Amino acid sequence: MSPTSDESALAAAEPMAEGVRLGSRLDPARTVQELRELHRLTGDAEGAQRLCWTDGWLQAREWLAAKLADLPVLVETDEAGNQWASLPGRSPRALLVGSHLDSVAAGGWLDGCLGVVAGLEVLRRLAAGDPPPLTVRLVSWADEEGARFGRSLLGSSAAAGRLVPDDVRGLLDAGGVALPEALAACGVDLDRAGESRRRLEGAAAYLELHIEQGPVLERLGLPLGAVVDTFGVERHLVRFTGQAAHAGATPMDARRDAFAAAARFALAVRDVAARCAGLGTVGRAVMRPGIVTAVAGLCEATLDLRHVDGGALRSMLAETRAAAGAIAAEERVEVAWERTWRIDPIAFDPELVGLCEEAVADVAGRCHRLPSGPLHDAAEMAIAGVPSAMLFVQSLRGLSHAREEDTRPEHLELAVRALDRAVSSALAWAAGR
Ligand SMILES: [Zn+2]
Repeated sequence: MSPTSDESALAAAEPMAEGVRLGSRLDPARTVQELRELHRLTGDAEGAQRLCWTDGWLQAREWLAAKLADLPVLVETDEAGNQWASLPGRSPRALLVGSHLDSVAAGGWLDGCLGVVAGLEVLRRLAAGDPPPLTVRLVSWADEEGARFGRSLLGSSAAAGRLVPDDVRGLLDAGGVALPEALAACGVDLDRAGESRRRLEGAAAYLELHIEQGPVLERLGLPLGAVVDTFGVERHLVRFTGQAAHAGATPMDARRDAFAAAARFALAVRDVAARCAGLGTVGRAVMRPGIVTAVAGLCEATLDLRHVDGGALRSMLAETRAAAGAIAAEERVEVAWERTWRIDPIAFDPELVGLCEEAVADVAGRCHRLPSGPLHDAAEMAIAGVPSAMLFVQSLRGLSHAREEDTRPEHLELAVRALDRAVSSALAWAAGR
């Protein structure tokens, strides 16, 4: 492998103290060690346990703060609970590098934290050299996963000015804790979360490294890819209401079975997604009364539709609505829809995507351009008008949000190198604009 640009620059630089010289080298193997360290600290036999607004997540943030304490950076937590580390550059304009430390319950060891810990390594490399042309700010977004309250990208959407407190105020976790309470326990006032918006003042670009979480790069035999855009998402709660009735006393033709309607709906969603070349998932269905001896009088199903094309996403939604209506009529139940969240497909900045592609080609020889099905904080940054792009590293067997999530250590190291390259190019690019 050829020396990285920072190493070449070092070789040409004035002689310096050995400690500084060693400290200024990018050390991708250290990132892998630190990811393992974080997993030992906050994971268990079931997987990563850094659910947002819990002790495991707070512990991960303290761990990061302790690592940052060795660097000449200003560490702050904003009004939405996002953690920032700023390395002053020659301009107050800033290049943001970020991802998230929170995980789903029993999640994988790399989802989110890879981008943060790799960003830490890039900060170390930059901090040891001359001040960069722009200020560089590492951000660990709060509650990217939405795994506890069902609302994804909470911290980044607050910073983007898109979080409406009343939309999330009533959300409860599985234990009945309200979202505002959980935030308050971590020092975050939901009604002031939007003030985090000022953190984006002067933001010139945003870069995020993440595991792919799907099988595309592995199938292609490539370690890394540049993300061109992210899928649009429609999330709804679809409530079927029939009549609860005794399982022994109610003839089959007299039933108004809410679960039977929801089950047919789930199959219809699958057909619509296949026809539209999108993704459709009914991830949860809750029945009432929910006992073995009763026909379900109520069934609440979640719906998640995704497509990279906005028009196709709208068609998918229209088709699933029509299917639900037809099924409800046949099953003699009522159906009601409640949108819980949506986001348009987002195209990343073509020039920044090009820089990411070059960075990947430099360290890995070849780059694949791909869309992202999963959501990422980078989408919120792009919506906020910050030129954004992402790098993906291969996920083994395409698994994520599970303890089996994994990536080869050599690919993780390549990913750190690619992020470092992309940061250097993005700094030069943004400084020239
Ligand atoms: Zn993630």
